[in-house]
Order: sequence, then C-alpha cells, then structure tokens
Amino acid sequence: MSVVHVTGKARRWLASGHPWVYRDDVAEVEAEPGDVATVVDPAGAVLGQAFFSAQSRIALRFVSREKTRPDRAFFAERIARAVAARARDGYLDPRGACRLLAGDADLLPGFVLDRYANVLVAQCGMLAADRHRDLFVELARASLPFEIACVYDRSDSSSRKLEGLVQRVEVVDGALPTELIVHESGMSYSVDVAHGHKTGHYLDQRDNRLRAADFARDVDVLDAFSYDGLFGIRAALAGAKSVVCVDQSKEALERAAANAERNGVRDRMTFERANCMHDLRDRAARAERFGLVIVDPPAFAKSRREVEGAERGYIELNRRAFEITAPGGMVVSASCSFNVRAADFQSYLARASYKAARSAWLTEFRGAGSDHPVLLTLPETNYLKCAFVRVG
Ligand code: SAH
Repeated sequence: MSVVHVTGKARRWLASGHPWVYRDDVAEVEAEPGDVATVVDPAGAVLGQAFFSAQSRIALRFVSREKTRPDRAFFAERIARAVAARARDGYLDPRGACRLLAGDADLLPGFVLDRYANVLVAQCGMLAADRHRDLFVELARASLPFEIACVYDRSDSSSRKLEGLVQRVEVVDGALPTELIVHESGMSYSVDVAHGHKTGHYLDQRDNRLRAADFARDVDVLDAFSYDGLFGIRAALAGAKSVVCVDQSKEALERAAANAERNGVRDRMTFERANCMHDLRDRAARAERFGLVIVDPPAFAKSRREVEGAERGYIELNRRAFEITAPGGMVVSASCSFNVRAADFQSYLARASYKAARSAWLTEFRGAGSDHPVLLTLPETNYLKCAFVRVG
C-alpha cells in the first residue's frame, strides 16, 4: 500500500481545509510517483487519500479525507455529481461547450475535461491524473445525456515539465471532425482543439462575453487580446456599430474573422495584428474613442515573483483603456492571474483611472462561469477576475 507521512505543519495546514501538501512538509514516502497515497500524520492517524507527485512542489493533492481508498464507485459518484452540476447550470446543450471536469476544483486533481459539442478534450497535469485519464473519461461519458464522437488528449501544458512528464497530444478515441463548431446562445464558433490555446478555447469567459454585449448596442467596440474574437462577435451580434479585434496571434485572428463571417457580422468588424500594449497607447495618442473597451490579457503574473511587473502592466494597460473610452462608456477588464488577488486588481484599476484622469465606477465584479467552480478551500481555483467599469 502506498503511504506518505506528513509533518505536523502539514496536518495543521490540512485542518484549514486546503487540499494540497507541499514537498517540504512531507516527512517520509513509501509510495511511487503517480500513486494514490494514504496520507498519515506524525501520530499515525490517517488524514485521507491523495494523488502523489514526487517531482512537483505540490507533493500531495487530496482526493478525499476518508480512510478508505477511492475506488471506481467513488470516482463514478464524484464525476456524476460534477456533470450533474453542469447540467443544472445549463451547460449541457449538446451543441454547446463547457468545462465538464475542472481538475482540483472538482476534487479530481490535475485532470481537466472540456467538452466542445460532442468532442471531449482531456488535459492531465500530473502523473496520477495520466493514470486515471481513461477511467475519468469513461465515467464522464457515462454521465452525459448524449454520445461523444471523439476523445482528444491535449496534455501539453508547460506545467507538466514541473512534474517531469513529457507532453502528450493524441486522439484517444474516435476521430476529430475536420471542423469543430460550437453553438452557444445564438453564436457559433470554431474550435481548434489540436492547436488552439489551452484545450482550444477560453471557456471561462462565456458568461462575461454575454454580459459585456449588453453595453455594445450602437457603440464602437475595441476587443483587445481578442483571441478568436468572441467578445467582439458577441458585441457585434448585440448591435455594436463597429468592432475592432486586436491580437498578436495571426492564427487567432484568422479564426476570429472566420467566426465573424459565420455569425454574419463580418462587415462591421476589423481584425488587427498588434501588440496591445503599444496599440492601446497609440490609440490614446490618436485620441480614438470607443463606447466599450474589452481588455482580456494573458496572465501577467504566472508566479508570485512576477506580481510587481504584472502590477505595472495592468495599470498601464487599463490606463490606456480608460483614456480611449468615450464618456459614459464601459471598460470590461479581466485578469486571469491567480497571484493577483481581487482587491489588488481593483486597486490597480483605481490607479489606472486616476492616471487616465477619468472618474470610474466599478459596476460589477465577476469571475468565471460556474463550470469553472471555485472550491472555497482552494483559493487557487478563484483565478479569473472580470471588472465592469463605467467611465466618466
Ligand atoms: N478574449 C479572449 C481570450 C484572450 S486570451 C476570449 O474571450 O476568448 C489572451 C490573448 O492575448 C491570446 O489570444 C494571445 O494571443 C494574446 N496576446 C498575448 N499577449 C499579447 C500582446 N502583447 N498583444 C496582443 N495580443 C496578445
């Protein structure tokens, strides 16, 4: 049996509810990398069952606090519940898309399963997740009310290196359709699961795109860091006068233009390839004005060390966003860096508005959709911030 002994410090930390134990707090290992280990405290008491990783800074990620080892029935119930939550929250339209299993947030450490129409895309971030992939996929399929045509594995995230794992991209079952189209509340878009970012698409912004579109009617819109252009297309569908999408990725902009065509809004949209940090500054210098500005950059602070640089980046970027917003217009500003906490992000926005010499009111502060659940005892799962700001 695999057993990992942890220190008293780890026991106290776990008693706060957090489900991870760091390498430094492991006392003794009688387990192989990738095992489901029984975790034991210094007094010999069983603290629970966890995925064990020998290489990562995070050595143990708990699956349960029970004495019994998780078996097939245990995972079947856990996965059925996660899928049922998506069904209840309206994420299971067969032609739609969602994060079906959100890894640690669903107490399935290191294992993400995204669904695009009838295609499943898995992403494993640790060896124990690799080993459970086929079981988890099978159980997820069994919980779905419709058939799955293809299972794809996009386990090529850079975090795998921290685990000492090779990157793996493969068709697990079936065949990928030549073009994968998702239909989502009146909008359709293509997803490139083989080459796109993450598992092909940014699922976590779905509801924020819809909300942002409420402010798009009859105004000019700037969608900065547009990726596939979906904030912009939502805005165009909601009656925007014009939409400019800016991104540095040529492939993303090509998909964005095709998506615009698909939704019949191509004539009101333009696509510009540029570095948004320079582009927004230049637009401010040219005194351009938009009724709605969306800024959705990649994570500026991937680690705690990068927070200081990220702070400067967010302030500069949002300052320009405020400067180019017409009086009474809206800025929708996102940050997906976990290391920048909500209160920090709001203080950056405050400083950005002051630097821009514009009054600004935070009207809504949103996160990801509920298919990216926030596990309260794991603050790391609360990463996406999306501020809606009215600019005076
Ligand atoms: N808004 C998108 C997601 C954006 S992800 C959505 O709703 O789906 C971040 C995007 O920023 C990526 O497409 C990436 O290509 C782009 N990007 C990263 N750094 C950039 C920069 N400095 N200038 C312009 N685009 C950048």
